[in-house]
Amino acid sequence: CGIVGYIGKRDVAPLLLEGLQRLEYRGYDSAGIVVNTPKSPALKVVKAKGRVRELESRVPKRFAGTTGIAHTRWATHGAPSDINSHPHLDADNNVAVVHNGIVDNADELRAKLVADGIVFISETDTEVITHLIARSQADTLEEKVREAVKVIEGTYGIAVMHADFPDRIVVARNGSPVVLGIGEKEMFVASDVAALVAHTRQIVTLNDGEMATLKADDFRTYTTSGATTTATPETVEWEA
Ligand code: GLU
Repeated sequence: CGIVGYIGKRDVAPLLLEGLQRLEYRGYDSAGIVVNTPKSPALKVVKAKGRVRELESRVPKRFAGTTGIAHTRWATHGAPSDINSHPHLDADNNVAVVHNGIVDNADELRAKLVADGIVFISETDTEVITHLIARSQADTLEEKVREAVKVIEGTYGIAVMHADFPDRIVVARNGSPVVLGIGEKEMFVASDVAALVAHTRQIVTLNDGEMATLKADDFRTYTTSGATTTATPETVEWEA
């Protein structure tokens, strides 16, 4: 349902929780957050069925990190629960995915992955995306995500973090909105500008079939086939 992500210099957990609160009006049944922390394993996840306030109460006071992604879920595959909440991570805690939309061929992909020995933790369609990315042999995170979105059918707005690529967040869009917020040495991503306008008015709206790589001081956009696209930030008007 709702996505918020940030990469920069600020403490990320409060920023993400505040962003999720700005998306509450869209409705949701659960919420979750993942932060790239300085400790091992780097990706630390907290999820909760229910309100963002419930999630917030579970986030440790010292949840240090300046890169993270977060989600409010409106369940389509699997009941609302802590486990089915996003982000979804692989067993090795390398990959974290938040997803809006529906993977239509999730059952078929899941059966294939299970036959290959992958153990699923949740009942969601989203978890197939996590495992597809985690098992990709590609060298770059962009290529891993590209391989995954090539085999999934359906709608998605996704944001992906990977422990081996801590300097970036990779996002992709097909049928579910994804907007980038361009800051000063910090970048935001969200499913809705409402989550971003407190921080930046410089917005890039991704098109279907487009992906983006966000780094703290830089962003680039390209198609799911890898061709660079031009994205000029637009200034959004917003009544506070
Ligand atoms: N289909 C996914 C799920 O049920 C995402 C739902 C959403 O857009 O929040 O977990």
